Amino acid sequence: MARVPPRRRRTPARRETLPEDLVLTGARVWSDPDAAVSEPRSVVIRDGVIRTTGSSDSVPRSVRRLDVRGRVVTAGFWNCHVHLTGQPWLRSRTGSAPDLQAALDDMFLRRGFTQVLDLASNPLTTRALVRRISTGELRGPEIVTAGNGVRPWRGIPFYVAADLPRYLHALMPGPATPLAARLVVAAQAVAGAGVTKLFTGSYVTPTRVKPMRLAVARAAASEAHRRGMRVFAHPSNREGTSVALRAGVDALAHVPDETDGTESLLREAAAAGVRVVPTLHMFASTVTTDEAYLAPIRGALRGFVDAGGRVLFGTDVGYMSDRDTRGELEAMHAAGMSPSDLLRSLTVEPAEFMRRPDLGTVEPGMRANLTVLATTEPPTPADLAHVAAVVRDGQVVYERDTSSAAGAGADPGP
Ligand SMILES: [Zn+2]
Repeated sequence: MARVPPRRRRTPARRETLPEDLVLTGARVWSDPDAAVSEPRSVVIRDGVIRTTGSSDSVPRSVRRLDVRGRVVTAGFWNCHVHLTGQPWLRSRTGSAPDLQAALDDMFLRRGFTQVLDLASNPLTTRALVRRISTGELRGPEIVTAGNGVRPWRGIPFYVAADLPRYLHALMPGPATPLAARLVVAAQAVAGAGVTKLFTGSYVTPTRVKPMRLAVARAAASEAHRRGMRVFAHPSNREGTSVALRAGVDALAHVPDETDGTESLLREAAAAGVRVVPTLHMFASTVTTDEAYLAPIRGALRGFVDAGGRVLFGTDVGYMSDRDTRGELEAMHAAGMSPSDLLRSLTVEPAEFMRRPDLGTVEPGMRANLTVLATTEPPTPADLAHVAAVVRDGQVVYERDTSSAAGAGADPGP
């Protein structure tokens, strides 16, 4: 799995204070979606790992303290559907650090994301960005990428084709045979992909969906699984959803927006443990705000959740220009998901899906990837979009300008 490699670190002869040591004071901890928000306490972090949540009396004064009085601390959020395409990511290799940092802050850190799944981008630019974050030159989330994705034979999505000169269409491979599909997935894994993305239904024009051949999708999914990679499908319509489920994918990267006939398939997906990344706000933001189009998509998500389906939070930011997560959170809430359900989709579910037992809750022994919400109250869906600070691997990687922070200094704690 492609991850940012751990920072190299001297082993001190005697224990010194490391940058990955930190104490959050006055934190109201929402340790997991089923727990209540705690009374104010300290979260003690050493070597990038949460050691205790409670008192900080025994921690040396030399260790950095971040006062988060009254704010609510959760596990670091995941965005399970992003793209690092377009500007400024095209200049990830040579672009200036301040430009890229501003984009990383606005797209990910100020939204609370400590982990993101890049569901298809140019691997060369993504790799450069991952490298610059891993060296500490840039502050950003952990990025797991799907490389450039796999499309059906002669089935490049029209919105990708529009942005890409014809000679570059080969960047997004469309294997014609099962063997070719295996080779494509293998090559992407070698190039650093940590998940696989299949366009099992590809919008080749705004109104026509081309499905991937089932045998091709099956071979690609099986090769990915053999390599320990999770498989996402872009389903689009009934046929694309059907191919995805028959091929054995692990998650749908969208609720199918052509909802006609997908109800029973989504129930089948829920029963099979196939996850769904809703991306509801993307449909409103990039297609139309017409309720006649949006209501059935929300209804499809509601049916999936009612059938016991498990949801991964994801917005499709990068394809969609709106970086605010509030629209997605409120649309998911309108589909019947409670604030606890939303937190689950942002933390516990993706951590489990991506087989990361060190992430997802705020408990001793867990990696110190944390999101600090600006709220002082039990969080509403909109509060989950309002982030005061972000900690990754025990380091403060984002802090909202406190001069503009609403409620800063309110609700004094210990
Ligand atoms: Zn997408």
